[in-house]
Amino acid sequence: MIDRNRAVRRPEWLKVRWTRNENFQTVDRMVRDRGLHTVCQEARCPNIYECWGQHRTATFMILGDECTRHCTYCAVATSRRPETPDPGEPRRVGEAVVGLGLRHAVITSVDRDDLPDGGAGHFSGTIQAIRQVSPRCRIEVLVPDFNGVTASLQAVLSAAPDVLAHNLETVRRIFPRVRAKGDYQRSLELLSQAAEWGNRTGGIVKSGLMVGLGEDYQEVIEALRDLREAGCQFVTIGQYLPPSALHAVMLRYYSPEEFNDLGDAACRMGFSFVESGPLVRSSYHAHVPFS
Ligand code: SF4
Repeated sequence: MIDRNRAVRRPEWLKVRWTRNENFQTVDRMVRDRGLHTVCQEARCPNIYECWGQHRTATFMILGDECTRHCTYCAVATSRRPETPDPGEPRRVGEAVVGLGLRHAVITSVDRDDLPDGGAGHFSGTIQAIRQVSPRCRIEVLVPDFNGVTASLQAVLSAAPDVLAHNLETVRRIFPRVRAKGDYQRSLELLSQAAEWGNRTGGIVKSGLMVGLGEDYQEVIEALRDLREAGCQFVTIGQYLPPSALHAVMLRYYSPEEFNDLGDAACRMGFSFVESGPLVRSSYHAHVPFS
């Protein structure tokens, strides 16, 4: 089979050093011993050696390791009937947060369209479990779109995370091609609702974009503007890297200078924190704006 996604040689700035140092092994053990999942592993994130090895941090992926959607850029496994959520998982995430001494925990999930609340109750249970054992830890949740069900979003918000993140991922034109079960406008509406919560409570609303899927510069600017108009305060922009030849084709590498340009444009739009670079992912350096 021809590997469509390997036809273009990866530029120097995307090469990462593999180092399984002691910190890496500590995080690995903490995750494995508690039967947890991380998006770092499931999504084959290129930053895993830095985040685990240098910062001893990970992004926990709750609600199992099988997703009910099939976004074509994503490495997470798909299933129509994933396993029933594990009621002990929130407690074990809390234990891992304490064990790693995290001051900023990022929690995300697979999409669970099979559950009546889309998994919102499990999210809020996880926030509460972390608060119980580590009250000073900042909690960032990166949520799915909950199919536009406002009650699900509100259930998560009422557990009072510090940051509510939901990734738009790509521009309006390409969205239906790579996120068939999602909807660009629905994602913006979720972010607008979260922004109302943020205005009332001081909570932060965040989103992220990938580039390289065939969008043009102006489309990225429009997506950034849409996010800003929805009330997002933080934004991340990173290079799409296809997990395999079977995933959406990567059409172009952006250079570090182009990422700087996009980051500058986002800053001018009024985002209060922007992280834009080839290896940036939505949870990359998530603690930095609070340091
Ligand atoms: S950027 Fe996020 S997903 Fe990637 S390794 Fe770091 S914490 Fe994990």
